[in-house]
Amino acid sequence: MLSTLNDDGSRRWLRPRVSPGKFLSGRRAVAYGLISLFVALPLVRVGGFPVVLLDIPARRFHILGQTFFPTDTLLLALLVVIVFLTIFWLTALLGRVWCGWACPQTVYMEFVFRPLERLFEGAPGRKPRGLLQNSAIRKPLKLLAYLVCSLGLAHVFLAYFVSWDLLRQWVIGAPTEHPLGFGVVMAVTGAMMFNFGYFREQVCLVACPYGRLQSVMLDRHSITVRYDRARGEPRTAKRVDVRLSVLGGVEPAGDCIDCRMCVTTCPTGIDIRNGLQMECVGCAQCIDACDTVMRKVKRPTGLIRYSSLAAMSGERFRMLRPRVVLYPAVILFLAALFAFTLANTGVAEVTVLRGPGQPFTVMPGGEVENNLRLKLVNRTAKPAEFRVDVEGVKGARAGVRVGAEGVLRLEPGQTETSGLGVVLPRSAFEHGRAQITIVVRGPEGFESRNAYVALGPAEIEPADHHREKDGHR
Ligand code: SF4
Ligand code: SF4
Repeated sequence: MLSTLNDDGSRRWLRPRVSPGKFLSGRRAVAYGLISLFVALPLVRVGGFPVVLLDIPARRFHILGQTFFPTDTLLLALLVVIVFLTIFWLTALLGRVWCGWACPQTVYMEFVFRPLERLFEGAPGRKPRGLLQNSAIRKPLKLLAYLVCSLGLAHVFLAYFVSWDLLRQWVIGAPTEHPLGFGVVMAVTGAMMFNFGYFREQVCLVACPYGRLQSVMLDRHSITVRYDRARGEPRTAKRVDVRLSVLGGVEPAGDCIDCRMCVTTCPTGIDIRNGLQMECVGCAQCIDACDTVMRKVKRPTGLIRYSSLAAMSGERFRMLRPRVVLYPAVILFLAALFAFTLANTGVAEVTVLRGPGQPFTVMPGGEVENNLRLKLVNRTAKPAEFRVDVEGVKGARAGVRVGAEGVLRLEPGQTETSGLGVVLPRSAFEHGRAQITIVVRGPEGFESRNAYVALGPAEIEPADHHREKDGHR
């Protein structure tokens, strides 16, 4: 049974209470830090590009001053695997710490949209004041505030794909000048309004696969939010003095006074006293709520706390377990591989391919021309010139079809595929083949040497010709 369903199957709307405490303060600080980071990443520049720019139309990604291309499959795959393994490792160590502290769904829901809701609708269990008592005023006002925030977030989101500079031009210009960008912003704004205004905790309960996977990532020693059953039970709303209960022959009551503060503060509406559940996002709000109650009834705090199943069962806590050691070892190896691959990418990427059509042409003067294709990627943040030469055969020359005199000029991050004509003397061919090297030189001493087999006429000596025919016979 979902915690957000009523008995008749209708939606149980959650309005979790705020429970001030050290964890709420910590999460608030982390959330505001992450929101600032989200806004700053496309704004701050490193190496001439925003810290993060996923330029999909140009098919290149700029991350921390590095430019990645779709051909950098290994680097991009390594990056994705490192991120996922780090989340798996954190889950093995600290349960769903990502969900409760850093997931954008939690961050924006709990620290942007819910505060706005409390501002206009009043705190749970309390009526709004003044003008806001009139629902015809407060509901449109709340929706307007949601819309402004969603629009802001949608624009920042779009900045990750088109850069702030272009986004600013789009914001100033008419929507008809950039219908695609306008459509994306409207679609993202609509999705955010739906998510934060209506769908809310259902994302964590039914849509996100991570919560369902957590059981295979956790073990008995993973630190999660837990209720100390041995100390809390039997729960009772009345406090019973332990000495009196012993003298009177009644079972002493546990520390839980069944106030349900841990339930009413839970953003997913569950009762942590029933044990760790898939719906628990590890936000620690129930810890803050229960600690406040424990202080009031003069009992030690920590009835609900971060702990492991093993520790709660009286076993010794084991920090070092195979998965906790294995994950960082693999992450370190992949990070080293990533750094090594990145360090060896150079300022440009060169690919030499055979051209379309006939493999070679014999020119009127007797020389032989091969048509090649040269794909060149400028990985730097500045315009760059690249010179193309042919080595390995005396008298050979190369002519780039685009560009002047074998020189190609590329804009920052530009990818260019040009025709490359390589002209060789006929004498360079042996059995119709000539081994040459296409050399591309660029800025910062860049040099790429590409071995290539040029094709030409295969001249068969008359004697060889007869021998071949005899052999066939
Ligand atoms: S907040 Fe603490 S005392 Fe109150 S019901 Fe929850 S566990 Fe029991
Ligand atoms: S049970 Fe506690 S930690 Fe889990 S989601 Fe609810 S309030 Fe957060």
